[in-house]
Formats: sequence, structure tokens, C-alpha cells
Amino acid sequence: MSPAGGSHRHHVVVIGSGFGGLTATHELRSADVDVTMIARTTHHLFQPMLYQVATGIISEGEIAPATRVVLRKQRNAAVVLGDVEHIDLQRQVVKSRLLERVTETPYDSLIIAAGANQSYFGNDHFAEFAPGMKTIDDALELRGRILGAFEQAELSDDPAEQARLLTFVVIGAGPTGVELAGQIAEMSDKTLKGTFHNIDPTKARVILLDAAPAVLPPMGQKLGKKAAERLEEMGVEIQLNAMVVDLDYDGITVKEKDGTTRRIECQCKVWSAGVAASPLGSDLADQSDVELDRAGRVKVLPDLSIPGQPNVFVVGDMMAVDGVPGQAQGAIQGGRYAAKAIEAGLAGKSPQERAPFKYWDKGSMATISRFAAVAQIPIPGTKKVIETEGFLAWIGWLFLHLIYIVGFRNRLATTIDWLFAFSTPNRSQLVVTEQQVYARTALGQLQQISSRRRNADAVEIPPVTTADADRDTGVESTTTADKDDAPDAETQAS
Ligand SMILES: Cc1cc2nc3c(=O)[nH]c(=O)nc-3n(C[C@H](O)[C@H](O)[C@H](O)COP(=O)(O)OP(=O)(O)OC[C@H]3O[C@@H](n4cnc5c(N)ncnc54)[C@H](O)[C@@H]3O)c2cc1C
Repeated sequence: MSPAGGSHRHHVVVIGSGFGGLTATHELRSADVDVTMIARTTHHLFQPMLYQVATGIISEGEIAPATRVVLRKQRNAAVVLGDVEHIDLQRQVVKSRLLERVTETPYDSLIIAAGANQSYFGNDHFAEFAPGMKTIDDALELRGRILGAFEQAELSDDPAEQARLLTFVVIGAGPTGVELAGQIAEMSDKTLKGTFHNIDPTKARVILLDAAPAVLPPMGQKLGKKAAERLEEMGVEIQLNAMVVDLDYDGITVKEKDGTTRRIECQCKVWSAGVAASPLGSDLADQSDVELDRAGRVKVLPDLSIPGQPNVFVVGDMMAVDGVPGQAQGAIQGGRYAAKAIEAGLAGKSPQERAPFKYWDKGSMATISRFAAVAQIPIPGTKKVIETEGFLAWIGWLFLHLIYIVGFRNRLATTIDWLFAFSTPNRSQLVVTEQQVYARTALGQLQQISSRRRNADAVEIPPVTTADADRDTGVESTTTADKDDAPDAETQAS
């Protein structure tokens, strides 16, 4: 079936609106193709700044522009909201679900950029008490948990309970953990100082804990040590070689290297210890010769396609390619490469003629606190790496991240929020709503109800094709005609 309700152009389906998916879609803007981007959120998310949403520096809108608006000017692109449940490689169809509505979208070429989820290393029940840091929901919930703990401590007159409420544990000392621990410490010491009557927020304990023996292991010993020193100056307790073996509402149990265990009483915990690639990788492996690595990432061929399917590409955090880290640049460059390979195919180039994907390592950075960051920048054409830390690295971090935020208005709003947050003790985004605090429990219950309903339903819900969706469901169409009717407006794509 034609994907675009009558159009016979080559149809590219892109799964995911993150760095890989959005870049691939944008890259195809002038190609003679129709593109359908299917994602489970209505926004593109700039994950590297989620910790700033969680700690009240910026608002969620600044890092999560609506993809529909970002792509408004791209005539050959349509957006479909839905959770992709299955990719049928034989029929070349992507099956997605929005609530009870199932949609089937056929493809000629497919780019899968569904990213990664938090991994609890087989202890998925930890998620209830220690949310990860992957989505806007996670960041807002964490903001609610941090500020909620201070509020509860203010009302308590039991010193032990107060101590538990004012102990914050960040599990995982990678870049996200370092950034979060630094910001929770800074928020307690500066923003919340003097705002309570019964507690002193500056006495809050922030613990950064990891089973590994070092902070920021991917950035090397020197920078890891610098980051640890700076965090300790800020009062963050660093506990290494400490593995979390159990976790509940009131605290965590940690196993030391010598096998002994101990308990940390703490209400607010956040998990930034590991990632597992999207389960869509195993969906591919079930139907083809695709192999996965230990993190569930797809071992792609040198042209980022999968064995036996030269028209199916896997990019970003879902792909396993030697020397390519799970970072934004890997996804951006992979998305761009896949889009170009599809265009080259339309121009008559065979898959065998594709040059292998080559990653350009532009370096890594992590902020620690205001005015302090660490950065590792490879010198092009050599094996040398510049390692820097402190104020210069921090300015570099701010500048680079500002460039990659999508949309001029978002960049401006972020700059204003930063000026406010870094030149005063205040932060402008300290709102907490009941929905943020209770959302995870409510969503969990909803999912249970919904899956019970589906299991009880003997008759399978018939899938809706994109053409049916045009006709009677209101799901966005992929037709060129629809897109031509769309009002013109300034695109926010950067
Ligand atoms: C807190 C945090 C901080 C980070 N900091 C940095 C940093 O400082 N520098 C850096 O370079 N990298 C950083 N990263 C990593 C970087 O964000 C990722 O490498 C990058 O986002 C990967 O891009 P992607 O397109 O593969 O996946 P993502 O950006 O995660 O996008 C995945 C997309 O797929 C969608 N999706 C997933 N499953 C489905 C499904 N079943 N159906 C439909 N849609 C689906 C999602 O909604 C999303 O739109 C950070 C990541 C996190 C979480």
C-alpha cells in the first residue's frame, strides 16, 4: 500500500524523535521521498540538560520542542504519535499503538532511532523508588521528590526522620550522576538556604555512589579525580566500590567490596547507573540474523544497516559500533549517514557501494557545578586529547549545549534562565505539582488496567493503516496534500 495516501514516492519511516531520528528526518528534507516519523512523545528531547529541569534551573519546554512544530516547514515529513510495538521485516510494516489505536505504517526504507532506557541490571523494581533520568516525566518527578523531601523534613520533629529526608543519594557516578549530585548540593546550599524555619537545607547530605572505583570513568583518571575533588569541596560525599543490592522507600542497602553490607536511610534516590537499548532491537533479532550486545544494542553492519536488510538502518544509542559512545554526536552522525545512504540508493547507488560509517569524535564534557566542568577534546588527525577543567570547560559546555538546543526562542529562554541561575542563588523553575509527584504510580496503575483489558479481550484490535487513519481517526496523515495545506510558519529546526 502506498504510505502517503496515493503518493508513490519512496517512503522512509523513522522511529524516534531524538537526536538520531530528528537529524535523519531533517537530512531528508530535500530528498524525493516521503518521511513519516513515529515517536512515543510529541517532542524532541535534549537529554543532556534534563538534570537542569530536575533541579529547577530551566523549564521543560526549553529542551523539549514539539516535533510537529519543528518539522512544520518540512513538506515531505509527517509525524505520527505512537509507541512502536513491532517491526515486521518481511511485510515492511511498522506497528505502533496510541492508547487502544493500532496503526500500521508501511516503509520502503526504515531508520530505527529508538534510543535507550534506564537499566536496573535486572532489578526493575528499583525504578519505583529510584527513578532514572531519561524523560521529562523523570526530571519533573525528581524535582518533586527533591523539593518534597525538604518540605516533609520541615514538618518533622523527629531528628532521625529529618536526617533520612535530608539525605539524597545519586546512584551512578557517570556524567549524569556527577551533574545531578552537584546541582542538588548547589540547590540545597544556595537556592534553599534561609527559606525554611525548622530545618537548615545547607545541612542536607548528598551522596554520589558507584560500584566502580572511580568517578566519571569514561573521562579518564585525571578528570575523574578533578571532578571528585570539586564535588567534595561542595560537600558531596563520594562512595565508590559500593554496589546497591536493595532499595526501598526508606533507603538503600549497599554491598562493599569486602562483601559486607550497610544501609543508608534516605528518601530521595535517583538512578543514573546504566542503560539498556530499546527492546526493538530484540524484536529485530527475533526475525533476522541480527545480534545484540550485552546492553541490547544492535550489532549493525559497517553501513549501519542490519544483516539481510540493506534498507533497514539502526542508529544512535540503539546501535553497537566500536568506538562510538552512546552520546548525542553518535546519534546525530548516524542519523545523517543513514539518510544520505537512502538518498544515494535513490540515485542508483547499490548498498555494496556504501562507504562505511565513520564517527567523528568531538569530545566529551560534564558540568559539576556553576563555573566548573571537565572536558576532553580530541585533536583532529592525531591520537592526542586535550583535557581541561574549571571555568573554561564550563563556558565551553554552556556554549556548545546552547548551540544544540532546538529553536531560537528556546536558546534565548535558556540563556536568560542561566544568567539568573548562575549570577544569583535563585532558580526560576521550582514548581512542583501533585501530578509530578504521583504520576509514576498513577501511570503504573493505568498501564496495568490497560494490559488487563487487552489480555481479557479475546478479539485482537484490528490495526489501522495510515490511509485509514487519514479517513477516520485523526492520526496525522503522511499525504503530501495534507502537508501542502499546512500553514506556513517559521521553523524552529536548527
Ligand atoms: C540525562 C542524560 C544526559 C546526557 N548527557 C549527554 C551529554 O552531555 N552529551 C552527550 O553527547 N550525550 C549525552 N547523553 C546521551 C544522549 O542524550 C544520547 O546519546 C542521545 O539522546 C541518543 O540519541 P538517540 O536518537 O539514539 O535516542 P534518543 O535521543 O533517546 O531518542 C529516542 C527516541 O525514540 C523514541 N522511542 C523510544 N522507543 C520508542 C518506541 N517503542 N516507539 C516509538 N518511539 C520510541 C523516544 O520517544 C525518543 O523520541 C545524555 C543522556 C541522558 C539520558
